[in-house]
Amino acid sequence: MFDRPRGTNDWGPEDMAKRRFVDSRFIQLAESFGFREVSTPTFESLELFTAKSGPAIVRELYAFKDQGGRDLALRPEFTASILRFYVSSLRSLPKPLKLYTTGNAFRYEEPQKGRYREFSQLNAEIIGGAPLPSDAESLALAIGTMRAIGLKQVKARIGNIGILRSFLPFPPADQAVVLHSLDKRNFPMLEAELARLGRSDLSTPLRKVIDLSGDVSILEIAAKLLGGAAKEGLAYLRDLAGLLDGYGVSRSDYAFDMGVVRGLDYYTGMVFEIDSPNLGSEKQVGGGGGYRLAEVFGGESVAQTGFALGLDRLVMAAEAEGTIEPARPLDAYVVPIGDNARTKAIQVLTTLRAAGLGADIDLVGRGPSKNLDYANAIGARFAVLLGEREIKAGRATVREMSTGAQREVALDDLVDVLRDV
Ligand code: AMP
Repeated sequence: MFDRPRGTNDWGPEDMAKRRFVDSRFIQLAESFGFREVSTPTFESLELFTAKSGPAIVRELYAFKDQGGRDLALRPEFTASILRFYVSSLRSLPKPLKLYTTGNAFRYEEPQKGRYREFSQLNAEIIGGAPLPSDAESLALAIGTMRAIGLKQVKARIGNIGILRSFLPFPPADQAVVLHSLDKRNFPMLEAELARLGRSDLSTPLRKVIDLSGDVSILEIAAKLLGGAAKEGLAYLRDLAGLLDGYGVSRSDYAFDMGVVRGLDYYTGMVFEIDSPNLGSEKQVGGGGGYRLAEVFGGESVAQTGFALGLDRLVMAAEAEGTIEPARPLDAYVVPIGDNARTKAIQVLTTLRAAGLGADIDLVGRGPSKNLDYANAIGARFAVLLGEREIKAGRATVREMSTGAQREVALDDLVDVLRDV
């Protein structure tokens, strides 16, 4: 007996049906938005992630040397891989480029409910669009995905890291430390850093600003606290709200929140996080924003906006709100009665499958009553019983499993009969 590695999961058939329910909703919606699917490797060179997020990221990664001595890491998210792919191979495609991908990601975290070492993300990126309409499109897809899953309790928090940056007249490395301390709400670190930079006066307005959260009216309050530097960024958020109205995104689905900082250095403008309030401590189901990363990977500067939703947490939210539709049951379980019936039964089975019905057959050689027990246990809608007498007459006995009602039907009518009911 072996145990799973810590922080990983096995997903049984029922779990997978739920996961497919959720990710298929995302894929359908993303395709309807004109996003196209890409796939990138599960592991990348370690440097890809340190170039994007700095050397400290290594502690959070599954990083290793391969047998050729190369430094590699399992991907902790998709953005770096997609941007690497874009810079190396997709630059000549018409822009804006709208890409989505889904799959597993790995982080060396302390596991708990909703926080795993291997988890799955639904990711979308827009490369080379103008920031404002691209940000609106991104948010509409992220919030729309939650709606498509049937979730009612959706709360996006939208901020603008550009506003905070414009208020911090420091070189990028110092700005990053201040933003990091704000992201972590680590106020001793914030005070120490501002003191070192000789700008302790910024502490009070910064702390007040990151507490601001609410409808568009908070943008006025933020403008008063931050002064002229923030004007543009606040007008941007007001315009964003206007575009989201056009998408039919309800204003109750999101709030402006100046405290959304997001830890990573490469965000430049709008940033957002989405919560599903009934998930407890790990309630954040997704996040994203506008960023510039292509130049970090050797490409020319181009605007990007993207997000990742956590599949595991979306499934938990959908379970909590009871929105998951039951998986489609097996249409027919075919029961050959007697050895001579098996070949004909396989032909019938194959016809049903070819007609797009879900059909299965006895693989054990059980007797009819054991087979009916099995059909019942696997939740088949119908059992199709084929004895030698029926086969000779070109007929089958069809048993509706939920009622036990049985009738004989001509084999030629079987597909229609199973489809209709
Ligand atoms: P991030 O890239 O950190 O913004 O993560 C985006 C989303 O992925 C989060 O909102 C979570 O839903 C999900 N996520 C991130 N880390 C984990 C994890 N360790 N386990 C499960 N889900 C995660």
